[in-house]
This record gives sequence, structure tokens and C-alpha cells, in this order.
Amino acid sequence: MHPDTRAVHITAPPVAGSTPLSVPLYQTSSFAFDDPHVLADSMTRPDGAYVYGRFGNPTVRALEQAVADLEGGAAALATSSGMGAINMLLHGLLRTGDHVVAQRSLYGGTYTVLRDLAERYGIETTYIDGHDAGELRSAIRPNTRLLYLETISNPTGHISDLPALSAVAREAGLLTIVDNTFASPVHCQPIAHGADIVVHSATKYLGGHTDVTGGVAVFAEEAHHRELWGHAVEFGAAADPFAAWLTIRGLHTLPLRMRAHEANAAVVAGRLAAHPAVSAVHWSGLADHPSHAIGAKFLSGFGATFSFDLAGGFEAGLALLGRVRLIRLAPSLGGTETLILHPASTSHRQLDGDELRAVGIGTGSIRISVGIEHPDDLVADLEQALA
Ligand SMILES: *Cc1c(COP(=O)(O)O)cnc(C)c1O
Repeated sequence: MHPDTRAVHITAPPVAGSTPLSVPLYQTSSFAFDDPHVLADSMTRPDGAYVYGRFGNPTVRALEQAVADLEGGAAALATSSGMGAINMLLHGLLRTGDHVVAQRSLYGGTYTVLRDLAERYGIETTYIDGHDAGELRSAIRPNTRLLYLETISNPTGHISDLPALSAVAREAGLLTIVDNTFASPVHCQPIAHGADIVVHSATKYLGGHTDVTGGVAVFAEEAHHRELWGHAVEFGAAADPFAAWLTIRGLHTLPLRMRAHEANAAVVAGRLAAHPAVSAVHWSGLADHPSHAIGAKFLSGFGATFSFDLAGGFEAGLALLGRVRLIRLAPSLGGTETLILHPASTSHRQLDGDELRAVGIGTGSIRISVGIEHPDDLVADLEQALA
């Protein structure tokens, strides 16, 4: 079935004799047992009875199953944030002495975690551009364990050649993790293109309404889910049931929203590209974006969050942030409302000038997350601010 259908038909756990049509909120931290053996056994595996919040919860499980289904995975683990999911995976899969290959253009928080892993535990990362499988081949060492990519990178729209790179990774025995936050399962299902694990900031498009913080890790194979479940219980970044419940509510309209987001992004990117005050637009849906041809091979859409540069540089960028009226200056992305921010001082503040240049973020670059308002209103607001 199509994602539109699967997103609407999210299965609730049955209660005696019938099944609730919407997933109920099980706002409980603990579950009581009659039989001590059942309680003891349930703490040892992900498919036992519900025991305690960190081990699992029916509302959270419904979210995990829904996202696994949309991503074409076997199972998932929901977490308290996207960074919770990323840390749970990296700490659960890596050991001292391991090596990672990652694409250079990464979410700032992920980049910092990889830097910390190197400093604290000697787990080094080699950064690659991601357009060329040969570059990955020469980066792989005997101790390389993971390949880490983002489907569409934050905020420059860089797209790694996932099908080609994951094939090389598989051959070399590496696990491929893909952060699919920007594409969502509507625009890309990385598992179908060779990923072993997909990670999301559910705070963004999955939740979609700027009212919940959450993350999800989806596993192509049940064995990886089982292995990481035990670690996740100890790691302690479990999703709260209410956050999971809000995310499920958001998921119902994900395919509908993604189409509206992307259609608006095409209008806004096109108008920005034609504006004399704008020097570059980094939406990968534009035919002249350096990643467009690679993305067109395996994406069914290019998302709706991207950066653009102003001819007037840093000062012009800051001035624009102060002059938009409808569009709001705020962190986050993927909500129904259009947001802008200045990555160099916010989402990518951890990078110095050279690191920013290496990933294509200018000191004056502006990131926009295009919402689902009427596109004419968005264009009018940007034009008055640019003027
Ligand atoms: C926001 C974001 C994250 C981190 O997610 P949180 O929910 O804020 O912890 C990770 N990756 C990408 C691509 C993001 O945009």
C-alpha cells in the first residue's frame, strides 16, 4: 500500500474484544504483574510483556511500528529526541578502536558527537564528500565499522550517493546508518537503497507540528533491533508516551504535508533564485544544484528545508532575519509554519570558519524550512524583507 494509506492506518494495541481506532495514550511508567516469572522474563527481551517505561510502552510501540512500516524496516526504537537516537546508536554500536566514515556535510550535533567519540574514546571519523564510491573505498580501514550519511544534508542539500556507497559498505562489512530527517520516508526510504539503520529527528517532519521533541531509529533487520534494544534500555533516552502519541497524530498527515512542503519549496526556491539580492540557493530540487542528479536517482522528492546566500553577506543575512513578518525566526524545521535561521550562529555553531566553508555554509547563509502556508504569502514576505 501507498504511504498515504499506511500513515492513516496505524494499528492500536487491541483491548478486550475490540481494537481502538486511534492509538490510546498509555501514560504509565510501570506495569503490574501477577506472576514474578513473567515480570523477570519480560525484562530480558523487546517482545515480552510491558514492564517499565525505558523497556517499552504500548503507545511508544505503536509509533515504532508505524515508522518501521513507513520506512520498510523490521522494527524501530523511539527515543526522547533525534540526538537521543543518534547517541544511542553510536554508543551502542561502536567500541574503542573502531573507525567511522561519515559524509562531511552533517547536522552540527552529530558532527560534535563524532568529534567527542574521537577525543574521549579514540573512535576516529574520516569525512568524505559522498558523491563518489571510490572515495569511500579508499577511506575504509580494517577497523571501520560504520558508514554514516544524511539523505539530504542540513542545510546545504548535499545528497550522498546512498545506493553506490551502501553497496561498497556492505561488501566491506560496514553498517550503513542514514539520517533521513530531511527527506522523511515519503521522499526516501533508505533501507530500500541499502541502509541498515535509519534515524530520524521526529521533532521535525514526522511530528510535523512543532509541538513535540522525539527521535526514532529504524532497523532493516530484527537482529540489530534486538541487539540495540538492550543497550537502549541502559542508555535511557526512551520516548515519553505523550510525545509518542503526538508524533503518531502527526504521522497521519505526513504524506499530505510532505507534498505541500515540497511544492511550496519549489516556488520559494525558484523566486529566491531569480532575486537580485540572492547570490545562491541550495535547494537540491533545482536542476543546477550539485547533488540534483544523484538525488533524482533515488529520491521521490527533495524536501523543503534548504539554505540560500545573500549578495550582501553576513550583514544582509542578519538584516533579513529581522525584517520577515510572517516567516518566524526560530530553530527547528519540518513544522507546518515557515521558519528561518542563521546556521553559522545556531544549528552549526560548533563548526569554525574553515569547517563551515568545507561543508558549504557561508557566514551569512540563511536556512529556511518552508511550511504549508499559501506560497504567495511566503514569497510576498520574503520579497518585502529582501527589498
Ligand atoms: C534536528 C536534527 C537532529 C537532532 O534532532 P533533535 O530532535 O533536535 O534531537 C538530527 N539530525 C537532523 C538532520 C536534524 O535536523
